[in-house]
Amino acid sequence: MPAHPTPPAPDRALAAPLPVLGTDIMVPLVTGGEVPYAALDYAASAPALQRVWEDVAAYLPYYGSVHRGAGYLSQLSTDLFEQSRVIVRDFVGCRPDDQLVFTRSTTDSLNMMAMVLPAGTEVYIFETEHHATLLPWRRADVTVLPAPASRYEAVEVLAEALAARNPQRPGLVCVTGASNVTGELWPVAEITEVAHAVGVRVLLDAAQLVPHRPVDMRDLDVDYIAFSGHKLYAPFGAGVLAGRPDWLRDAEPYLAGGGASRRVTRHADGFTVEWQENDNRHEAGSPNVIGAYAMASACRALAEADFDALVAREESLLRHTLTGLATVPQVRVLSLLGQDSPRVGVVSFVADGWNSSHLAAALSAEHGIGVRDGMFCAHPLVRLLLGNSPDQPDQCGAPEPLAPGERPVNAVRMSFGAGTPVEHVDRFVKAVAQLVRDGARWTYRIEAGRCVPVR
Ligand code: PMP
Repeated sequence: MPAHPTPPAPDRALAAPLPVLGTDIMVPLVTGGEVPYAALDYAASAPALQRVWEDVAAYLPYYGSVHRGAGYLSQLSTDLFEQSRVIVRDFVGCRPDDQLVFTRSTTDSLNMMAMVLPAGTEVYIFETEHHATLLPWRRADVTVLPAPASRYEAVEVLAEALAARNPQRPGLVCVTGASNVTGELWPVAEITEVAHAVGVRVLLDAAQLVPHRPVDMRDLDVDYIAFSGHKLYAPFGAGVLAGRPDWLRDAEPYLAGGGASRRVTRHADGFTVEWQENDNRHEAGSPNVIGAYAMASACRALAEADFDALVAREESLLRHTLTGLATVPQVRVLSLLGQDSPRVGVVSFVADGWNSSHLAAALSAEHGIGVRDGMFCAHPLVRLLLGNSPDQPDQCGAPEPLAPGERPVNAVRMSFGAGTPVEHVDRFVKAVAQLVRDGARWTYRIEAGRCVPVR
C-alpha cells in the first residue's frame, strides 16, 4: 500500500473553547468500546452553551406568563423577555427604530418577512440558497439569480439584474451571510451597496453567520436580519427577525390573536381590531420567554468572550481541517465561490468511490463522530456542486463503493464552532483519512432511508 501522508497536527496555542454541554457524553462504537462523542454538526444545531443552560435553569423557578399577569413572577418574566429583546438587538447592532420580533427559527422569520412584503414587491434570490430562503416568497414576484462562481461575480450578477428592474416597485434581496453547505462568506456589504443604490432592501439570512462572526446590521447596512437560537448555542425554540419597522408595522400580523391585538370590538357583522404597532404585532400568543432569554444569554456569553479570539480559533481549526483533508487525495471539498474564499467552520466534501451516507455512517458508528450527510436543505446548490442533474434520483443507494466514475448524490458536512475542542477536529481528520485509505471495518445497510450499521 502506498505511504499515506499523516495529517498535520493542529495549532495547540489557541483560545479555550467556550464550555458547551455534551462534550463528556460517551457513545458506543460498533467495533467495541466507547469514545467521547465528537459533535461536528454545529451547522444543523449547535450544543447549548453551559452558560445558557445555567441561566435558563436559574430562571425556571421564576417562570411566569409574559404580558399577562399582575403577579410578581409575571412581571419579572415580562421584564426578562423585554430585556432579552434589548440584549439581542445590541448583539446584532439594530438601529434605534428597528423592530425585533422573536420567532421560532430562521425559517419562521423568512416566512414572516414574505408575509409582510408590500404588494408588488420584487424579490431577488440566488439559486444557491437554503430552502428557507428559496421557498417562502409565494406572494412576491421572484427573480432567481444564477449561481455565481466568485464573490465578485455574485455582486456583478445582482447588479445586472437590479439594473433592469422597475424602480417604482419595492424590492428585496434575500441573501445568506455564510452558506450552510460550503461555509463560504457572501459579500454582504457589497451586495447591500449595490441594492441600496437602486432603492432595494436587503434581508440577511444570518443563520450560519451569527454563531461564527460578530455581526453589526449598521456596519453591513442590511435592512433585515434573520437567525435561529438553536444554531447560536441556545436550543430553546426561538428565532429572530429584526429590521426596518415600516413594512412590519404596515402589514397584517403574521399570526392573529392575543398579544398582537390592542383592542377588539364586537359588531353585528364581526369584529374590528386595532393591531399593535410595536414588536408585539407579529408575536401573537404567549411568547417563548425561555427561548428569548436563552438567546440573550448566548449573545451575552459571546459578547463577553473575546469574539475575535473565538474567530481566530475557528479559523485555525478550519485550516487544520482543510490541510488534513488535503492529505487525502480522494477527498474533494465543495466550494462555490472559490477554494480561497473566506469561510466559517462548515466544510462539505465527497470522497471518490464513497457513497457519502456510508462515509458519514462509518464516522459515527466506528469513530463516534457526528457529522451530517445529505443535501442540507439546499438541493439545487448541492446538485450543482456535485455535477448532478435535477433529473437524477437523490436516493443515496446501497452502502457499497461507487462504480468508477459514478458521482455521489449527496455530500458529507462537518461543522464546528465556539465549543469544539481541537481533539474533535483532529479525530475527524484522522478518521476520514483512515476510512478512505482502509475502508470501513463494518457492514452497513439502508434502513428507512438511512445508512446504518448491520447489528
Ligand atoms: N438558512 C440557513 C443558511 C441555514 O443553514 C438554515 C438551517 N440549516 C436555515 C436558514 C433554517 O434555519 P432553521 O432550521 O433554524 O429554521
